[in-house]
Amino acid sequence: MKTLFSFFIFFSISLLHQESKKNQRNLASSESDHKVIFLLLDGVNETIFKDLLDKGSLPHFSQMLENKDPNGYKGIYTPATSVWPSTTGPGYAPFIMGLYPQKSNLTGIRLFNRETKKYRIFAGSDLLKINNEVSKEFPTIYEVFEKDQTFSQTGFIFRRGWKADGSYIKPHASITSITALCEKLKLDDAESKIYKTDYKTINSFLSKTSGKKRFQGAAERSFFNVKKRLGKKMNPLHVGFHLMASSFEKIIFRGRKSLNQLPKFSFMSLHAPDSIAHKYGVGEKYKNAIIELDFMVGWIREYLEMIGEHNVSLIISSDHGVDPVENVIKHHHRLVDQISESLSLKIRDSEKRFSNKFNRKMKKELIDHDGFSSISGNANMQLYLKNDPQWKKKLSDLPSFKGMRYSQFFLPLIKKITKLQSTENVYFQINPSQYMILNQEGVSQITMNSDKTKASYQVLEGKDPLFHQSKDQELLKAIKNKQTLSLEQWAIITKDSNYPDSIQQIVQLLDSKRGGDIFIDAKVGYEPWDEMQAGVHGALRKDHIRVPLLISSKILDEQKARQFFKDLKRFPRTVDVYPTILKALDTPIPSSISFKRDKKTVTIPVRTDIDGVSLDIWK
Ligand SMILES: [Zn+2]
Repeated sequence: MKTLFSFFIFFSISLLHQESKKNQRNLASSESDHKVIFLLLDGVNETIFKDLLDKGSLPHFSQMLENKDPNGYKGIYTPATSVWPSTTGPGYAPFIMGLYPQKSNLTGIRLFNRETKKYRIFAGSDLLKINNEVSKEFPTIYEVFEKDQTFSQTGFIFRRGWKADGSYIKPHASITSITALCEKLKLDDAESKIYKTDYKTINSFLSKTSGKKRFQGAAERSFFNVKKRLGKKMNPLHVGFHLMASSFEKIIFRGRKSLNQLPKFSFMSLHAPDSIAHKYGVGEKYKNAIIELDFMVGWIREYLEMIGEHNVSLIISSDHGVDPVENVIKHHHRLVDQISESLSLKIRDSEKRFSNKFNRKMKKELIDHDGFSSISGNANMQLYLKNDPQWKKKLSDLPSFKGMRYSQFFLPLIKKITKLQSTENVYFQINPSQYMILNQEGVSQITMNSDKTKASYQVLEGKDPLFHQSKDQELLKAIKNKQTLSLEQWAIITKDSNYPDSIQQIVQLLDSKRGGDIFIDAKVGYEPWDEMQAGVHGALRKDHIRVPLLISSKILDEQKARQFFKDLKRFPRTVDVYPTILKALDTPIPSSISFKRDKKTVTIPVRTDIDGVSLDIWK
């Protein structure tokens, strides 16, 4: 093992010396060469991120926001709201499609598709099938642009058209490239493995988007430059991962298709914070993961400068936050068992990673059970229930389980769920325009107008399940007077509450045809399952739904952006990022898309009524 490791270090350093000056030549880029790299830092809690930023623990992010860059880069930071359920998958679609789960069809990391009667687990066996499940009525950003104009590394959703049978076509993308080699190095403690993945991701992305000559050596040099500038003691393990990953990229470079240039749009996901949080909670290790990503982003910036990419907007955000779970066994239990018992129903638990067995026996599962559960993140649980005890009726689209989804009669049963120890809020719909929110202490209701643009919110019983802690006078007045306000106005007045943008989020998820019939968020400090995770997300609360949004760009008009956010009054939403990226790349939202299928170009009309709006921040 040691020999192999030394070989790679030697190999890398020797290449480093071979690197000639000519590869550093500045390829001066004009405004029209503008490019965007979107970096998704998976699972970053906005409050913790901002705290680290304010303390000076994130030097590269701070530098991007100083607005003193000699090359004219400007930066801006704002909290943003993601989507509910706040989980990987549903939380990625906003950035590349501008959609909430209702329109993206991704209503959870696990879901039951009533039309195909398939159970999907995107956190396991159905990882790639997410590209088939995600809505084809709206394009992904990879379908908006020509094939060579986009790239995705560990992007989760990366469909670029689909074949006649409906299965997805890949863009220039790679899930992973050097797993086998990493395993050989036996740096196998769980924390190291997590970081290894992100080092692989960056090296793979850089090598495939910058051309062989430019990649050689530049990856190492930029890495060590940043380490040196930070004056930080190098973590030998991380140096090892990096050298190994970049060496391997070089070895396999020759035989592989590469873009040889940075495309218009690139997507990269770095997963350390989320993986660390699930495993170790939200303590020092979690903060260190965010600090490590600050370093990685600094390294990418250094690399881009080195290879002459001087006009690249970096947009950095996250799919969801996280909060910790108590490390005692009674805080981790199978809520579905308790629900089944208290409701006298037979509800099938979510499978953890593999859906194959479940789907193979689906016919029997449908007959044997009164419903299915799907868990996301792991703090969100959705129950899919049937109104026909034999599952013999054809399942209609929306609402598929009419009897359950819109039943007043069901209220006493749902009240029983709120009494269970790990339950925070329970959400369900009683008719097409009314949505109930219940917890142990109270009941409230959202009433929408017929075209679903305005809503009123009122407390029906006890304490307000969402806003009882709020001190915002405008919010309290609107609730007390049962005011009918636009969803935009609700986003403004709920902005600083513990449930920011919740009215919009509840309506979109409960109206979705893929979502369950009953939606349950776990109480703070609880995991409603038995995976013993130390940190969870998925719920509607602030710690899960609020994420950082940082933009660094030469075309950013920082003054205008500040004023725009001030006038917007709400936080930007992650669904707003997609149209904002298209605007930066001077590309309108298309009404049709074209891609190659069986050597022919097909053109398909698509919907333009996305959920996001472009943020007016560019020059
Ligand atoms: Zn995630």
